[in-house]
Order: sequence, then C-alpha cells, then structure tokens
Amino acid sequence: MKALVKDINGVGLTLKDVNKPQILANEVLIKIKSTAICGTDLHIWNWDEWASSTIKIPMTVGHEFMGEIEEIGENVENLSIGMRVSAEGHIAGSSSRNAKAGKLHLDPETINLGVDREGAFAEYLMMPASNVVVLPESVCNEVGSILDPFGNAVHATLSFDLVGEDVLITGAGPIGIMSAAIAEHVGARNVLISDINDERLKLAQKVCNADTFNPTNEDLKEKMKSMGLREGFDIGLEMSGSENALEQMVGAMIMGGKVALLGIPPKKINFDLSKVIFKALTMKAIYGREIFETWYKGLALLDSGLDIKNIITHSFHYKEFQKAFEILNSGKAGKVILNWD
Ligand code: NAD
Ligand code: ZN
Repeated sequence: MKALVKDINGVGLTLKDVNKPQILANEVLIKIKSTAICGTDLHIWNWDEWASSTIKIPMTVGHEFMGEIEEIGENVENLSIGMRVSAEGHIAGSSSRNAKAGKLHLDPETINLGVDREGAFAEYLMMPASNVVVLPESVCNEVGSILDPFGNAVHATLSFDLVGEDVLITGAGPIGIMSAAIAEHVGARNVLISDINDERLKLAQKVCNADTFNPTNEDLKEKMKSMGLREGFDIGLEMSGSENALEQMVGAMIMGGKVALLGIPPKKINFDLSKVIFKALTMKAIYGREIFETWYKGLALLDSGLDIKNIITHSFHYKEFQKAFEILNSGKAGKVILNWD
C-alpha cells in the first residue's frame, strides 16, 4: 500500500510502498478516506529539534483521519465492516494508576499514532478497536478527519463554565478558531480572538462571529473598552504557545479568572508567575482530549448545529502532499486535507 513515510534525516516525507498492516484479534483495519495535516506533522516534515529527537525513522506519519472499517479482529464487538470511523490517536496503556482509574488521557505510558507507531497517512491503518469512534452520517468525511484537533478545542474550551462569560482566546490557529466557535455556540457573551497574523484573523471571521484583535497594531485595553469590558476577561484560552500572548492574557484577566493553557511554547519561557498569584487566577494545562468524554461532547456539539467546516481551507489528493505541506508551512492555511480515495 502507499504511505507517507519519514525515512530521511532531513526535511520532507517520502511517498512509498509499505506492507499493508495485519490486524490482531482486538484490532480493526481501516481503509483511510480523509486525513488532515497537524502542526505535529509539520514539525516532522521540517525535521526540527523535537522531531529529530523523537521520531524513529522509518515511520509512517499522520494521526488525524477518518475512514471505513474493512476488516475486524475476532474479539471485536459492536463494530462492523463498512462503518465510517475515526479514532483516538493516543493509545493508552493499562497498568498505570490513571489508566486503571479510567483516566486514559493521563496515562504516562501512552503511545502516539504517527509519532511512536505507524500512522494514518497511508491507504490502510490498523487500530485497537477500543480506540475507534463511529461517525454519525451528519459528519462529512473532511470534518471527520479533523476531530482530533477539534477535540483539543472542545477539551480546552469546555474546561470552564462559559455561559454568559467574556472569553479571550490568544492564537487564531485552527484550534483557537474552533475554540472561538465552540465558546459562542455554548453561550459565551463576548469572544475575542487574537493573532499576530491577519490572514488567520480573516479565517476566524469565516468560521465564527468572534471579535478579532492583532496585538502588533491594536491596543487591547481600548478593544476591551469598546466591547464594554470593565474588569477583564472571565475565561482565557491560550492557544498560541507564545510568551507574549500569555503575558498579555494574564494582564487582561479579571481577578479570579480562569485560564486553560493548550499552546505549547517552543522553548523555555520567561513568565512573571506573581501576576497569576496576585490575580488569584486558576490555570489548567490541557493535554490531548479526555478519552472518550471529549469525543462524546464534540460529536454532540456538531449534532446540535456547530459548524466548523470553514476551518478547512485546502484539500489535496495525497499524491500532492508536497503542495499541501508547503501551503501549511506558509501560515496562510487553516486545516489542510489529504484525500485517499
Ligand atoms: P498554530 O501554530 O496553527 O496556531 C498558533 C497561532 O498563534 C498562529 O496563528 C500564530 O500566528 C499565533 N500567535 C503567535 N504569537 C501570537 C501572539 N503573541 N498573540 C496571538 N497569537 C499569536 O497551532 P494550532 O494547530 O492551532 O495549535 C495551537 C497550539 O496548541 C500550538 O501551540 C500547538 O502546538 C498546541 N497543541 C497543543 C496540544 C495539547 O495537547 N496541549 C494539542 C495540539 C496542539
Ligand atoms: Zn493533531
């Protein structure tokens, strides 16, 4: 079968023939239909410090996908051939304290699809049946392939009660923008999303009705005044990984406000923790999705009319993967899809 493999110590991926996976009794074989490129895949493509010290080559990459079940292992129940599915790409162990308590997203032995084991940018993928999530008809193939980053947005955004609250989101990447759409959908009062890239702010306006703000040429205090905010934002969602954004967010929060941290700083940052303490802020770090509660909530949000389709800006056949990675690298895209039909 064809697969996109990291097999060189340098920039890029190779489209090559690899063996079709063989499933075990508790696994399913999925015929991949649609995949999406994640920031993680871009790190692997660019072969930065994190990627070159983490990925053992050769490795088929990719973890955002949907497809159809083609084969099921003999012990698998409740799944059948032909079902449209996606799956949780974090494959948890079973022996840690958290795994035993059912907190699979907190299991330190987790194996990551497309990073630690063969990934989804391929014609076929084998997955443990227990990780598979069946897609409702109402979720189209392309949206079905972005449920992993959508899940990051759902997990972070629903961490705190948003109803009637004023929400600041720093970072209008795909996850920040989907978070803005979720915050509006569940009843936040004001949602402001910031980015230093105007293209990203324009994209935000195609997905949601949030106010936008560029800290490089606008004053946040003035913006807050124009929105009628007197004391600060109640909820903050840090989705950029930027030191400047975090500092700006903490400065703009109300006393006792709540902040979810999802963005990953690329290196150690210099941050004045005393501001968090004197404002009595609650900070919650977000990793991945809550398995499987986030999947349940995410599908329920889509079912109740949340529309995230416009976050998908480009769609390519997998053979055009070079173009797809280049457009994502340019910072001008939202989610970029690779079709495997
Ligand atoms: P992205 O890189 O596409 O988006 C980040 C955005 O932040 C960019 O548009 C960038 O221009 C913007 N930004 C940079 N500096 C800023 C500043 N000072 N103020 C406001 N915006 C600024 O990333 P994404 O795919 O949307 O993911 C968001 C973040 O979440 C990334 O840092 C990513 O690594 C991280 N992430 C974390 C998890 C997790 O489990 N915690 C999972 C997936 C992604
Ligand atoms: Zn991802």
